[in-house]
Amino acid sequence: MAFVWVIILSVGLIQGVFIISSLQTLFPRGSRKTWLYRLLKGLQITPVLFIFASAIWFFFMEILPIEVAKPYSSLQGIFYIITACYFWLNMVFNYLSAMIISPGYPGTRQELEEDTDIHLESLKFCAKCSRVRDRGTHHCSSCNSCVMFMSHHCPFTNNCVGLNNYAHFYLFLLHCCLGLAFAVYCTYTPFMVCMLNYPSPYKAANMCQELGDYAVMFLVVSFLLVFIFMMFCFHTFLLVVDMSMIDFLKICQKLTCKDWLKVILIDRCIRRKKLLLRKLMLYRREKWWKFLIPGFNEIPELLPPDEFLV
Ligand SMILES: [Zn+2]
Ligand SMILES: [Zn+2]
Repeated sequence: MAFVWVIILSVGLIQGVFIISSLQTLFPRGSRKTWLYRLLKGLQITPVLFIFASAIWFFFMEILPIEVAKPYSSLQGIFYIITACYFWLNMVFNYLSAMIISPGYPGTRQELEEDTDIHLESLKFCAKCSRVRDRGTHHCSSCNSCVMFMSHHCPFTNNCVGLNNYAHFYLFLLHCCLGLAFAVYCTYTPFMVCMLNYPSPYKAANMCQELGDYAVMFLVVSFLLVFIFMMFCFHTFLLVVDMSMIDFLKICQKLTCKDWLKVILIDRCIRRKKLLLRKLMLYRREKWWKFLIPGFNEIPELLPPDEFLV
């Protein structure tokens, strides 16, 4: 029975995020301050938080007792606990940061009018939100605001991914992939032995009875790993060609297959020298190893573009 619940919950939770996201678009712009809309916005992130809580619970309650002998002070036990906690902490920290940190909203006409040094005639403004429209700025209909270097509106964080939170979003995908790969490694043997009846000392120790249908978690984490790894590869590709997701999708609609190879792969990937977008979005820490621990961007936003040009 647990088998059925595990499958329903894992598939249902991911689908739930998309269903709630679609329901929000039904609300006309004027009625987005109602309690129902706010409730939907709050509900959208609960499936992901539930998955995080279940993941660490599953590790300590199911995986660890099966894989490592008690007490867990052996080298293997320490390795398992540190690895799982490290990936989990980085994943949760970067997810929450991508959700909470503002993606970067350009100034509104009203704000700039108060600053007398700026010539408003030389600037373009968005007709919908009256914010400055600069290179890489796009209007997000879900947030009802323009976002600097907008990549996309993420239904899982319920926030736009842009200039200030892109690094967190990308690091979230990276640590998710690493954590899920570790989970696949941990659940592989129980699945093969208990579900596919492979011969192993597990059987004799009656481990399968203890683990029950939870051995099927291997299928769930493998499915999640494939899904998140595809997203990670896509965003890595976008960084290589130095384009935001919105710009990439827009340009792909206009290109034929032959043009796509020339414009995207050869011109942008190989010949391109200016790495403006990648540097603005990703190179925001003083030292490279600071990307490996939970932390915020240290290099401030909106440095003069000339500083980024190679
Ligand atoms: Zn706008
Ligand atoms: Zn948005």
